[in-house]
Amino acid sequence: MISLDDIRQARERIGSWIHRTPIFSSATFSRMVGNEVYLKAENLQKSGAFKFRGAMNFMLSMSDDERKRGVVTGSSGNHGQALACAAKLLGVKAVVVVPLGASPAKVAAIEGYGAKVERCGHSSTERIAKAMEIAENLGMTFVPPFDHPWIMAGQGTAGLEIAEDMQDVDAVLVPCGGCGLISGVATALKESLKGVKVYGVEPETSNSTYLSFKAGRIMELHDIHTIADGLRTASPGSITFPVVQRYVDDILLVSEEEIKKAMVLLLERAKLLVEPSGAVPAAALLYGKVPLKGKRVVALLSGGNVDLAALCKWIEEVRTGN
Ligand SMILES: *Cc1c(COP(=O)(O)O)cnc(C)c1O
Repeated sequence: MISLDDIRQARERIGSWIHRTPIFSSATFSRMVGNEVYLKAENLQKSGAFKFRGAMNFMLSMSDDERKRGVVTGSSGNHGQALACAAKLLGVKAVVVVPLGASPAKVAAIEGYGAKVERCGHSSTERIAKAMEIAENLGMTFVPPFDHPWIMAGQGTAGLEIAEDMQDVDAVLVPCGGCGLISGVATALKESLKGVKVYGVEPETSNSTYLSFKAGRIMELHDIHTIADGLRTASPGSITFPVVQRYVDDILLVSEEEIKKAMVLLLERAKLLVEPSGAVPAAALLYGKVPLKGKRVVALLSGGNVDLAALCKWIEEVRTGN
């Protein structure tokens, strides 16, 4: 388990490298959902998602010698971009293994930060195996996307900021993939504020944390289809899940349609470009999944990296109602 102290130390390390992201109040959302709604805008974080916090904390926790030899990971998404971005800032070599069909925009973003891109297979299992092989052969350090105390403590710094900026917060809603984010954020909040609730949010069609939480043990999914690509994890991590069991109050589920509508509303009303994974907390609020009324609730908008062609399509679907 990580502690509040680990998260405070992570903040000492990464504080000068990250953006302290704003928390916006939203009159529109508040009126629509009957709570006082606040939006923590991690879509405005460096590299476009909170994952920069964990990647930076991991790299700054490595020894000088390890940093000289470089880092490697297997990810087509925000973790790959975050690691590449952090590596560039620190002058460290980075290799990111992406799937064969990775979107050209994502590959370009990773290469734009100066990281080397390797292509391998279609599944995350193949990607991770390849990344570990590269780490072994080249003496580089493998950086996991969520299941590591340094990653969890780094992500937890977002929770520390919420606790400091809003000491009277009643509840915080956090997206769940492998649960690196929620395990860090819940630790920061529960160990520094009294009575605050923390809810995880998942797509109905990628609900491994929900199933695991209800079963009291880690459950794995094999068939996952959701537009929230940052939340397509087979299961919560073996290090993150015990923290979820200890500190998270409940896991809420949202549909694909609710995610799309929340994204469009965030764009139109709050002027925030949020990707599907980052919009699930807003969807939970808008569609009555949160068992609270008249409370101060923060939705953690975890990222804003979205393919513009897909976004156009989703806006059109929401506008025309199909
Ligand atoms: C990775 C990611 C998540 C999920 O984070 P975990 O630590 O895997 O639970 C949520 N939102 C976005 C935008 C992400 O990139």
